[in-house]
Amino acid sequence: MKTHKNTNNTRRNFLKVLGGTSALASFPHILKAATAASRVVIIGGGFGGATAAKYLKHWSPNLNVTLIEPNALYRSPILSNLLVNGQVSLNEISFNYNTLNSKYGVNIIRDWVQGIDSAAQKVELSSGTTVAYDRLIVSPGIDFNPINGLDSNKIPHAWKGGDQVLMLKQQLDAMQAGKNFVMTIPKAPYRCPPGPYERACLVADYLRKNKPGSKVIVLDANANITAEKEAFTHAFDVTYGGIIEYHSNVSLQSVDSNQRIAITSIGNFNAGVLNVIPQQSAGKIITSSALANHPTGRWANVDPISYESTAVPGIHIIGDSQGTGQPKAGHIANAEAKVCADAIIRLLSGQQPYAEPMTNSACYSPVSSNSASWATVVYRYVPATKSMQAVPGSGGAPATASKKAYRQMFRWSGNLFADTFS
Ligand SMILES: Cc1cc2nc3c(=O)[nH]c(=O)nc-3n(C[C@H](O)[C@H](O)[C@H](O)COP(=O)(O)OP(=O)(O)OC[C@H]3O[C@@H](n4cnc5c(N)ncnc54)[C@H](O)[C@@H]3O)c2cc1C
Repeated sequence: MKTHKNTNNTRRNFLKVLGGTSALASFPHILKAATAASRVVIIGGGFGGATAAKYLKHWSPNLNVTLIEPNALYRSPILSNLLVNGQVSLNEISFNYNTLNSKYGVNIIRDWVQGIDSAAQKVELSSGTTVAYDRLIVSPGIDFNPINGLDSNKIPHAWKGGDQVLMLKQQLDAMQAGKNFVMTIPKAPYRCPPGPYERACLVADYLRKNKPGSKVIVLDANANITAEKEAFTHAFDVTYGGIIEYHSNVSLQSVDSNQRIAITSIGNFNAGVLNVIPQQSAGKIITSSALANHPTGRWANVDPISYESTAVPGIHIIGDSQGTGQPKAGHIANAEAKVCADAIIRLLSGQQPYAEPMTNSACYSPVSSNSASWATVVYRYVPATKSMQAVPGSGGAPATASKKAYRQMFRWSGNLFADTFS
């Protein structure tokens, strides 16, 4: 996998690098840091948390920034489907936090946050210690809602990268030719709208080459393909015609994890390999606290001018856990992190957050070993509703996957990985 290092990380330029749209270049210039000794603590070192830590220190070196993350290595879910058809190795999509510490001066604590005491402004760690904050950023990603009978040690979701994806790959390798790969997709919103369809295609790519007679059966809880519809419809019907079987409006009722059976509203599906992607909610640290105030109880409502919680002052939620309606994706988590970092620096300097933040989402979806689709959209803050709205005409997606997009995918991901972790 080729990577491209992004060294161009001033406030003005980051959105150009990642979003490539001139509308985003209106972001404000660097503020002078007047925030020495203020403590910003960040929970979670994924695309949201790691980016926030880096840019807080980059833009305001005197700040005391602490990132709390239990894992030494972040295993990216982005590009992880390419492990299935052997196009990347786990090593190529794993990142450590050394540069955030050595180059930017971010304090790294390897631990799990088990509680937030917002009155005392401190977080409680599994090790028993506490860490005090002036502002707290929470970016814990997602957790899964339970499903009757589902044991994810046997039936992988493979939706957080790393070991779960390796388990899926091992099960596929061990599957007898002629048996079927059955996958379930939860109702939106879920992490990475095109991700499940991308997985169906890459597993089909793998089966076609390695398991003659096997099929991919997609059981989607949604009424239709939720992202990059034209390109995936073409992939399902033409590229993988006869290999992928797609069913919409299917609700998963329970799972027999030992026999690998999905029990659904349209019948039982016996699988050679069963991949259940459960319905999702914000990370547990959010749903177990007063922060999950979205009407569904699954996400955290924030004012996207600063990503400050609308339930608890001084706590900011970014990435998949926020409930603004922006997609749950890593590229936009990186953009939200920068808006949030900028707002926190301003607030700690006695100023107001920038009034018109914009963000950008981009997904590249590999469809085979040499072709990919993509989708992008730009969001603008609307003060009247305190919400992020898609900018009319800013969205785009191709009709079919292409080889060119496959090459661009590695440049895009290389930029995103470098901008987040180095
Ligand atoms: C197959 C697939 C393909 C994808 N492709 C794309 C794509 O093309 N483009 C795109 O933009 N996005 C893509 N995504 C989505 C992207 O991976 C997520 O949206 C992104 O990782 C969200 O970032 P986050 O910071 O919110 O959470 P995460 O990246 O999940 O990071 C959360 C971190 O918080 C830590 N954590 C959680 N709770 C605690 C706690 N209590 N204490 C301490 N640490 C904690 C976790 O260990 C984790 O490291 C894809 C996802 C999948 C599954």
